[in-house]
Amino acid sequence: MTGFIPLSVPTLTGREKVYIDECIETNWVSSGGRFVNRFGELCAEVAGARFGIPVVNGTAALHLSVLLAGVKPNEEVVIPALTFIGTANGVRHAGAHAAILDVDPVTWQLDPAKLEHFLRRDCERRTDGLYNRQTMRRIAAIMPVHLLGHPADMDPIMALAEEFSLAVIEDAAEAVGAAYKGRRVGGIGKLGCFSFNGNKTFTCGGGGAILTNDEELARRGEYLSTQAKDDPVLFIHKAVGFNYRLTNIQAAMGVAQLEARTSYLAKKKSINARYREALQGVPGITFMGSANWADNAMWLTTVRIDQSKTGISALELMRKLEKPGSGVPRIETRLLWQPMHRSEALAGSYKSAAPVADSIYAEALSLPSSISLTADEQETVIGALKQHLSGR
Ligand SMILES: *Cc1c(COP(=O)(O)O)cnc(C)c1O
Repeated sequence: MTGFIPLSVPTLTGREKVYIDECIETNWVSSGGRFVNRFGELCAEVAGARFGIPVVNGTAALHLSVLLAGVKPNEEVVIPALTFIGTANGVRHAGAHAAILDVDPVTWQLDPAKLEHFLRRDCERRTDGLYNRQTMRRIAAIMPVHLLGHPADMDPIMALAEEFSLAVIEDAAEAVGAAYKGRRVGGIGKLGCFSFNGNKTFTCGGGGAILTNDEELARRGEYLSTQAKDDPVLFIHKAVGFNYRLTNIQAAMGVAQLEARTSYLAKKKSINARYREALQGVPGITFMGSANWADNAMWLTTVRIDQSKTGISALELMRKLEKPGSGVPRIETRLLWQPMHRSEALAGSYKSAAPVADSIYAEALSLPSSISLTADEQETVIGALKQHLSGR
């Protein structure tokens, strides 16, 4: 065993090297080439969507999706309070604002009841759409996040979106391979986004994808992600595009990663199952709940540490695990993200109270969940957790 057990690192033991070598040997290293196209197809397949557009990262996928959904500057996009800042940045890059709502205490996902309350009570219908009574901004879209690999409760969200004529953009950055009531996430809303960042389940080094079933949107997405080229010979551009296309080298890695998806997703589940089995009875530690309709992609197994029962906070526990005594490996764990309604970066957003997100953030700790985590390493993590948590 090594002296360090990381939180979430890539596993590049499949055909990554063969495919990247092919890029170098054929000189197809940039934005054209067979892997970029194949990667888009594979992403679509994994999302159960018709089209997949490869882009440079998940944040770019979100930004472009917000534009593709027709969201205008100074309109609002509903997001959950508990998510990574990339969700909100995708909205802000388009000049729109976030409307931040609380999450469900069991699944930690955007709470459909709070969404319904917000749309019915805190907004008003006008001839040209639904307006937030407090900010007077038009609500344009809902962006549920499938947090930590667990799907958001899409049926009520889609029904509300339909009723109020709002676009749904799924932030499936953490949930590649997850399913909601048998439907793969990413392909349920009007648009969906994947991330292939280095610490996600599947990686391109950096990468992302936009998913959609709408051919028109797919074409527009492809166009805007490649500098909006209307005539590649005369260099005519009729719109302000983006240089967001993924490169063939990155896509080559991504194709190899997605080829291994069945075993990767099974490994994430077995890591989660072992943590649950071993830690279930430890006082003060609880797991993120899984809904019965969820096929959870289990990106990072995350627990709550109740300090009143364990005598130690999630932050203190994280510090202890990263600085153990001699002979014991360092263990990397991680807190969740500061809830969006607390973020200074999102000062101009609409914010509802989000006590559930606050309380999860105060207690949550993500545990080592790499595909390459060995059984011995996992037992070491479990042993260290038990030792620190029984210290009351
Ligand atoms: C990782 C992540 C993103 C951003 O993806 P990048 O590829 O890092 O830009 C967006 N939203 C969520 C929920 C994420 O976890």
